[in-house]
Amino acid sequence: MSEPTVLEPGRLWWNWFGEQYFVPRYTVRPRSEGEVRQAVLEARRLGVPVRASGAGHSNPAVVPTPGVHIDFDDFRQVVSVDKEKRQVTIQPGMRVREVSRYLRTQGMSLNNQGDIDTQTAIGAIMTGTHGAGVSLPCMSNQMIAARIVTADGEFLDLSAEKDGELFRAFRCSIGMFGVVVSLTLQAVPSYNIHKRSWNADVEDCLGGLHRRLNDNRTFWFFWLPIRESADLYELPGGNVPSTATRDHDFCHMRTYNAVPVGEAAPVLKEGEQFDHSSVIFPNSYIPNFREIEYAVPFARFEEAFAEVRDLFQTKYPTAKYPVECRPVKADDTYLSAYAERDGYALSISGPMEHASWAMLQDFDELLDRYDARPHWGKHHFMTPVRLERIYPRYDAFKRIRREIDPDGVFLNDHLRPLFA
Ligand SMILES: Cc1cc2nc3c(=O)[nH]c(=O)nc-3n(C[C@H](O)[C@H](O)[C@H](O)COP(=O)(O)OP(=O)(O)OC[C@H]3O[C@@H](n4cnc5c(N)ncnc54)[C@H](O)[C@@H]3O)c2cc1C
Repeated sequence: MSEPTVLEPGRLWWNWFGEQYFVPRYTVRPRSEGEVRQAVLEARRLGVPVRASGAGHSNPAVVPTPGVHIDFDDFRQVVSVDKEKRQVTIQPGMRVREVSRYLRTQGMSLNNQGDIDTQTAIGAIMTGTHGAGVSLPCMSNQMIAARIVTADGEFLDLSAEKDGELFRAFRCSIGMFGVVVSLTLQAVPSYNIHKRSWNADVEDCLGGLHRRLNDNRTFWFFWLPIRESADLYELPGGNVPSTATRDHDFCHMRTYNAVPVGEAAPVLKEGEQFDHSSVIFPNSYIPNFREIEYAVPFARFEEAFAEVRDLFQTKYPTAKYPVECRPVKADDTYLSAYAERDGYALSISGPMEHASWAMLQDFDELLDRYDARPHWGKHHFMTPVRLERIYPRYDAFKRIRREIDPDGVFLNDHLRPLFA
């Protein structure tokens, strides 16, 4: 009699954008750590690779595999919480929204989040997802420990405290070290956010940039190149205060400032909101864009932005997607776009049309002159030569990856050329 298997016939999977899809040989929807381990062991016996997915919000082909696809939708509970240390351990299927709302019930918040909360926490961490703020690093830094199933089918408990370099390499490793079966996040005391949104001319935005960055926990902006830009990304056009003198080439700006829970709410003016961090952080988007996002060194942002704006205005005057600009604090995570340098992320998008590729490639070439680093959850045009130049620990990352997964069980066609 054959042994019971956790492998089911492969099911069609597609990402949020509908741009990446595949049918693996097998799909697994685990309900326990043991089932994940069994899935990896069975994959090894069959000689096929393994990839896990989160909520599928990454643009590039980080998930597709011809082998075993592990889908964590049925494995998304809180494992434990330590209120004293403000740490929470969760299963990998948990969405950022579920974590942040749970933390609120425990008197805590996430220190920072991106501008949606429908991704999984582990997916966000594995790709270096970030919010905005000169003092706020990307979300990978909130993970302080994790349990993974390695390529040998063993459980390996990793922590920032115990595993130093290995953990710094693992924190943003695009799922290449193993399948994460639980992760522990460091939270902070619960806070509300006082949010202010307004529109102004680009000259006003750039003129006050450093003052606004210094005066606020978070300051970020979208540059809207043409009039139609305001209709995209659900950005408010007419319902926030505006000093803009044009209906194009202006900026939509936002500040977020933290107010400890229990402190009085401010009297709100037009364009302002006040609520718990878990409510204010998330925005909503529709999958109508194809995006690259690159981080330039913080000190070179204004120069890079001026070139980006110029390229839009001269070569792509009808391109309408807003350009999102967010500062992120440096960290020591090997593959973080902010590894050992403060950075400024510029997101550039076009429609889901073939023609967008040429435009995005133009911006890629421009930003490469700034040694810009990619967001691993968004499209990019990286090569090993480039990665070697822009990531101080690229070689060290590859060495550790080979040690932990010598047979490349957790690689796929997108990652192998860059990290094998
Ligand atoms: C509308 C929208 C808004 C966004 N906003 C922001 C933003 O504000 N800031 C920002 O920085 N990014 C942003 N992103 C990018 C997004 O946060 C990342 O692409 C993130 O990785 C998506 O998480 P996910 O749960 O969908 O993971 P997926 O895309 O499904 O997977 C991401 C990676 O994690 C790995 N992974 C998932 N689960 C596991 C596991 N259990 N074990 C090992 N590896 C695993 C996958 O293999 C893959 O490599 C946005 C994306 C969209 C679509």
